[in-house]
Amino acid sequence: MKCDPELYRATSPSLAVKPRLIRHLFLPPLIIALMIGLGYIGFLVSEHYGIRSLGENGQRQLELHARAVESEISKYTYLPSLLELETSVSKLLADPTPEHRQTVNDYLEGLNRRSRSRAIYVMDTTGRVMATSNWRDVDSYLGEDLSFRAYFQNAVRGQPGRFYGIGSTNGEPGYYLAHGLEEHGKIIGVAVVKVRLEAMEERWQRARLEAFVSDENGIIILSSDPARRLKSVVPLSDDTKEKLARSLQYYWFPLNELQPLARETLSEGVEKLTFPANSELVSDDENISYLSQTRPLSDTPWNFTLLTPLQDLRREAINQGILVAVAFALVAFLLIAWNERRKVIATRLAAREALQEANNQLERRITERTVDLRASNERLKGQIRERRQAEETLRRAQDELVQAGKLAAIGQMSTSIAHELNQPLAALRTLSGNTVRFLERGQLDVASTNLKTINELIDRMGRITASLRSFARRGDDKGQACLGKGVDAALQLLGGRVESIALQLHRHFEDVQVQIDQTRLEQILVNLIGNALDAMQAQPQPELWLEGETFDGKYRLRVRDNGHGIDAEARKHLFEPFFTTKPGEQGLGLGLTLSASLAAATGGHLGVEHPASGGTAFVLSLPLVSPLPAEPI
Ligand code: ADP
Repeated sequence: MKCDPELYRATSPSLAVKPRLIRHLFLPPLIIALMIGLGYIGFLVSEHYGIRSLGENGQRQLELHARAVESEISKYTYLPSLLELETSVSKLLADPTPEHRQTVNDYLEGLNRRSRSRAIYVMDTTGRVMATSNWRDVDSYLGEDLSFRAYFQNAVRGQPGRFYGIGSTNGEPGYYLAHGLEEHGKIIGVAVVKVRLEAMEERWQRARLEAFVSDENGIIILSSDPARRLKSVVPLSDDTKEKLARSLQYYWFPLNELQPLARETLSEGVEKLTFPANSELVSDDENISYLSQTRPLSDTPWNFTLLTPLQDLRREAINQGILVAVAFALVAFLLIAWNERRKVIATRLAAREALQEANNQLERRITERTVDLRASNERLKGQIRERRQAEETLRRAQDELVQAGKLAAIGQMSTSIAHELNQPLAALRTLSGNTVRFLERGQLDVASTNLKTINELIDRMGRITASLRSFARRGDDKGQACLGKGVDAALQLLGGRVESIALQLHRHFEDVQVQIDQTRLEQILVNLIGNALDAMQAQPQPELWLEGETFDGKYRLRVRDNGHGIDAEARKHLFEPFFTTKPGEQGLGLGLTLSASLAAATGGHLGVEHPASGGTAFVLSLPLVSPLPAEPI
């Protein structure tokens, strides 16, 4: 398979930056949006399950309190029918005399007191009240015509009369239970019991229960909250309102509707109602929602409704929503922090690896370099060994050369020495011959003078041979020499040549002790002065300057002549062995080389200067034995 190079091409920096930028731009709003979304979902779920739990609890409460209402109502249902058994009642209805009425009045008064009902009264078939338990009261029903009441109309037809209404006499609400009194299968009158159910309202209030009972018209007849009483839970048409007003069931009270802000049916008989804030029913600053659960009350056309406030649940749900949002934010924050930490650790690891790699590379390089260094060290050691060997060879060669130089100088000098010795020998021969003749003649004075001259000549010859011997002797590198003595010896050796050219000598040096063998010093000086004499051969007024000075623990002796000087080409090779410009047997080219080598062997130096005035100056620098201030010689 062939690789597609496009796939593996490195991402450009601008493209690499973009996802991070997008992440930084969009991540915070995304997290906030998710927080809000999840918080809202948390709120809804919490509210849903809260309502379900409240509903289950409310259902139990509803059942309990509905049963209580039912039993409260049913406990009076038998009471009106009891009057059928009372003969005084049937007598009154058959013969309404004042005595019969009073008897029944007393009976009803006693019965009412015992049964704790509001009032018990008996009507004839026309609806007029014949006797009543409250006959003593000013607003007694006695003689009133209540035929318009629905409970009477039902009871007179033999049906049970159940009715909730507000009394037309005293405007007092009550529950009316009516029963048609039969005699021989014929209805002779109607017995009515009026009971008050307000006790239940008080019981609800004490139990902090929000509940109400609505009648067959949808009007709230009992309510824990008095503000809801006589309000309609269903919409009432104008006709219905008028009909109800005319029936005086609710006396003259206006029948308004309970108007919730929102109504949401959750299931059969279960609704969610929201009442607006600061309304007739709600004094709070915020809307109030209720879970409304309704159940019909048996044996009546009424409904019992239980209201459970949802504020606490709502608050709880909001808290849960906030908790979910905060938990999500925390998780998101932890995830981001974990991710950032992971990145930091990855970067650190990468940096550590890079460092490790760099270290390894460095170590590799050091190892390589060490190997190189070792090799070059070995090479250097080898070179040093070679150099030492070369130096040794050179030193030996130098020694040989010195010796050879000496021999050469001896050979070279032997001519002049022979010449030097031949002269006195010739003179000796002449003088000795003359002396013999003078002695034979008896001229003793002249002979004595000749003998003295012969003595002097012999002394001189002895000095020449002595110098030659000391020159040829191999000397030590160590030793001390007297500069003045050295110069004298050299001049003496070269005496003949010095005299032959009528040299003008300038001596400006001190008689110091220098660290060199005396013979070697003389050898150097013979070379330098000899060369100067050679250079001044053609000079009509040859002059030689011997100038000395102390410098840096050494003594410098400048041997300057006014000879022909040295040309530029020759200057380069002066100290090379066997370099000479002298013709034939005159020069060996070893003088300067040997002299420089002898000076260097004692820690001194031999250099050359070329004065602008002409001639040549050789500078011999030798270590001082002790800085002795000496008289100029
Ligand atoms: P040699 O005297 O046997 O030639 P040296 O080593 O003493 O050998 O001198 C080398 C050469 O240096 C000489 O041949 C000469 O040309 C030059 N030289 C040395 N001293 C002087 C001088 N004082 N003046 C001019 N030339 C000199």
